[in-house]
Amino acid sequence: MHPTHRTSPGRKRRRRSHHALRGAHTTLCPNCGENKLPHCACANCGYVRPGLQLKTETSEED
Ligand SMILES: [Zn+2]
Repeated sequence: MHPTHRTSPGRKRRRRSHHALRGAHTTLCPNCGENKLPHCACANCGYVRPGLQLKTETSEED
């Protein structure tokens, strides 16, 4: 099966005007002020939420 109508360049560009990727959104860690992904543990200090902070082992060689 073929498309019934050819897509014009303008129509193609309008459709693809929504296809651009955006950078990952980050929030500031309230514990240390570093940029972190929301809902994820902070890579710098391991802070997740009040009452939960993962241990950050700086000597992880694996
Ligand atoms: Zn942090």
